[in-house]
Amino acid sequence: MKASELVDLLNKRYDPTAAEIWDRVGVVCGDLNNEVKKIYFCVDVLPATVSEAIAWNADFIIAHHPLLLHELAEVLEGEPPIVIAPWKIALKDRLISEGIVLLTAHTNADKATPGVSDALARALGITNLTPLPGDIGRVGTLPEAISLKYFAAKVKSILPISKAGIRVFGNPEQIINRIAVSGGSGDHLLAEVRSADVDLYLTADLRHHPVSEAIESGSPALIDAGHFATEWPWLNQAATLLAQDLASGGYASVEMKISTLSTDPWSFS
Ligand SMILES: [Zn+2]
Repeated sequence: MKASELVDLLNKRYDPTAAEIWDRVGVVCGDLNNEVKKIYFCVDVLPATVSEAIAWNADFIIAHHPLLLHELAEVLEGEPPIVIAPWKIALKDRLISEGIVLLTAHTNADKATPGVSDALARALGITNLTPLPGDIGRVGTLPEAISLKYFAAKVKSILPISKAGIRVFGNPEQIINRIAVSGGSGDHLLAEVRSADVDLYLTADLRHHPVSEAIESGSPALIDAGHFATEWPWLNQAATLLAQDLASGGYASVEMKISTLSTDPWSFS
């Protein structure tokens, strides 16, 4: 199939117009007339993942995080121009010279159904999923109620947790059943989670002040499993859905690779 046909299919699944206004999703670089035979999925577009994609002879990369986000923001009159980091320019040039098309699906993948938080919840065995009221996160239940400490151990065994580990707030023996999840940075949803009457909220990038204030207001238990780990399950879901869309659209199947290379930045704890 042509890269342009693949982009059309992906845009139906992950509508670019659904992305947040500040987001920069869609095709970043590459020739859309290229033939696509090998699609590589990753969370972050970094030298390590691009090298892995090139070594595998990928001709199309689907990434969750935009390569250029703040750099493409509108510059207001009188503000200094935004400088693009040299490594990003080098990476984009490398993708172009290798004939690889790069497409990112970020907040439009968060908002899709199924999307990033559905993938996270399902990976952890959370079912009966409904939207988190007031947002695009998900609320669901476990097949059996278990203690917070056992659930935290389960999270660690299932998700690609970074060297920094996971952080938990709550009584380890507390029994949990109803859980809210939000893949990626999630401390902006602490108020919505409190209103959703859940036993636990699992997300990433929880900061000191929002968390300590939420706890004083009566927070459920909290698990910070790391940004990369909570978004990584989406890659598998996106690949599975794309394979279905290719089959139902009458396209020949293409090879797909889900990167298992951790792009979490932490080295040890
Ligand atoms: Zn993210």
